[in-house]
Amino acid sequence: MKRTVAVVSLLFALSVMALAHGKEKHVMGTVTSISDSSITVETKDKTSVTVDVSDKTKFEESGSAATLKDLKVGDRVVVHADVSGGKLVANEIHFGAMKGKKSMEGMKGMEGMEHK
Ligand SMILES: [Zn+2]
Repeated sequence: MKRTVAVVSLLFALSVMALAHGKEKHVMGTVTSISDSSITVETKDKTSVTVDVSDKTKFEESGSAATLKDLKVGDRVVVHADVSGGKLVANEIHFGAMKGKKSMEGMKGMEGMEHK
């Protein structure tokens, strides 16, 4: 019985995540500036993208919970953002070491970089 409930709530969580992704934009690049309310990321095609940070934005450094204060100019980031009123508002900002076998395994089951 307990197990059934766990499976159902996992499926529910997954479908909510998939829905959230329908409207999401993903920004990958290098942080060029940080303020209390937004960060600017230069993508690999040299476009500067400013993403607002809200009190709901989740930060993750090398797979662990972090805060805006842990983020530094020059960090490589993957930002998951919603488009709101013509602006990007970050849901999640991932940064820190993301290469190597160990961290790749840590990414498994989490959102990868390839999802749409
Ligand atoms: Zn996402």
